Amino acid sequence: MKETNLQYDFIVVGSGIGGLVSAVLLAMEGRSVLVLEKNHQVGGSLQVFSRDKVIFDTGVHYIGSLDEGETLHSIFKYLGILKDLKLKRLDDDCFDMIRLADGSTFKHGQGYDNFKKGLLEKFPKEELGIDLFLEKIQAICKEFPLYNLEVEEGFSYIDKPDLMSQSAFEFVKSITDDKKLQSVLLGNGLLYAGEVKTTPLYVLALIVNSYLKGSYRMENGGSQIAKLLTKRLHSLGGRVLKHQEVVGADYEHGRIVSVSTKAGDKFFASQFISNMHPRQTVEVFGKENFRPAYRTRLKKLENTVSSFMLYLSFHENSFPYLNYNMYSYTQDAVWDTVEYDENHWPQALFICTSAVKNQGEFADSMSVMAYMDFKEVEQWNSTFNTVAESSERGEEYAKFKREKEEQMINRLEEIFPDIRKSIKGIYCSTPLTYKDYIGTEDGSLYGIKKDYNNIMHSKINSKTRVLNLFLTGQNLVFHGVLGATIGALVNSFNFIDDRYLIDKINNLK
Ligand SMILES: Cc1cc2nc3c(=O)[nH]c(=O)nc-3n(C[C@H](O)[C@H](O)[C@H](O)COP(=O)(O)OP(=O)(O)OC[C@H]3O[C@@H](n4cnc5c(N)ncnc54)[C@H](O)[C@@H]3O)c2cc1C
Repeated sequence: MKETNLQYDFIVVGSGIGGLVSAVLLAMEGRSVLVLEKNHQVGGSLQVFSRDKVIFDTGVHYIGSLDEGETLHSIFKYLGILKDLKLKRLDDDCFDMIRLADGSTFKHGQGYDNFKKGLLEKFPKEELGIDLFLEKIQAICKEFPLYNLEVEEGFSYIDKPDLMSQSAFEFVKSITDDKKLQSVLLGNGLLYAGEVKTTPLYVLALIVNSYLKGSYRMENGGSQIAKLLTKRLHSLGGRVLKHQEVVGADYEHGRIVSVSTKAGDKFFASQFISNMHPRQTVEVFGKENFRPAYRTRLKKLENTVSSFMLYLSFHENSFPYLNYNMYSYTQDAVWDTVEYDENHWPQALFICTSAVKNQGEFADSMSVMAYMDFKEVEQWNSTFNTVAESSERGEEYAKFKREKEEQMINRLEEIFPDIRKSIKGIYCSTPLTYKDYIGTEDGSLYGIKKDYNNIMHSKINSKTRVLNLFLTGQNLVFHGVLGATIGALVNSFNFIDDRYLIDKINNLK
């Protein structure tokens, strides 16, 4: 029967990791679930594209918390996708390398012991500061039960205002006077768009800890996670439909009865889950159905910065595969790079060579990310270009991209002097790409920005004022594959008993 003639228990709008995990969790409890995705490909930020026979990740480049028994490992095992994931573990003694302005490099090792050992080699007098850093991270992570797959009495997954109001930067400054060590401890801040004036310490702690607990690349790209979740959903009787942009909803007696798509189809369900940004959710489900105070609060929320990605394909056997990521800065104040100086862009780079099946000595490609403010591409805001709906953005935009690519490659040459000789193809994405593919208004990297000065302001509840509309994804708890997956658990607790579900996940460990 056609999906439009069916009445589902749940419709999930958006097939990002949060949407898909929510869908599978519900389907595993016997509910009928339909996922509607606007794009040609499922996965949101897990999407990949291919050029020169090379697969490039658009968003996710490595994932943490994947060692045996860790939170993401356990959830993926429960969802039934772990055994089929093709992962490449990054180096134990260095999964992230931090390169400072003077060219000096520092290793972040996997696991608390390796991390400490690596830093002590470069900062032998700083044992106390390094210990304080690691102890604090662990102490903070213990305060978030769900992060550790625990349920507590009177449990609240993200309601610790005092703890959450601590500044990451001020904390790091307080544990060591060594400016270099401060920069190195904050050095993989591109993972959470770390900023001096806003980033809370708990965000750093949850993210850094997760990467210390098992950092892996995905062989041939992150889309395998979305594909495996889709396959799992289909095996449970659920459906994922692509090319279905949801543009509106019909209500009866204050409840949503159906959503309608751009193509004019209607899909019916009892409950609705949105994987869209909360602001887009309000737009699509009708402003008039939400309280003005809620809308005003959402309107005021700032998103994290967006990014420019450079993708390079390499000539065969010409550039070494690096089994670690590099974070490279042109200034030691590494967190002053989000609000960058346009004349000196890019000031902070995330660099990784992607992993393929049976990865050998040489890399077939490299992805490089730099912060980019949406205002740099605002003049082309009215254009739209995706695989599902393609159009040209014009000559000026093409010129802009070429200039930025060149600036990025110039910067790469400072690190890898001969890199140009290895380059076969050059491609890029801009904040507009992320805006069009993900559906946020500014192509934000990680959704809503958390600000330690006003932490409760950015707290987003999974329940909305519309009785049968719920939110999932990166904006609920925190971002990243782990964060959005935990967000999906929080969403599922609206329908599945939390203790029952957590016990089931833990029992499979
Ligand atoms: C450049 C970049 C690099 C990153 N690197 C990493 C990394 O290395 N490791 C890591 O863990 N995380 C990384 N992240 C963060 C991570 O990718 C995200 O936090 C996470 O994937 C967000 O998942 P989500 O569930 O919130 O959904 P999203 O990925 O935001 O997906 C939302 C989905 O909803 C769909 N949608 C929107 N509107 C509609 C509509 N009207 N109708 C139908 N469908 C709609 C979109 O098409 C999309 O598929 C990165 C993100 C970016 C952008």
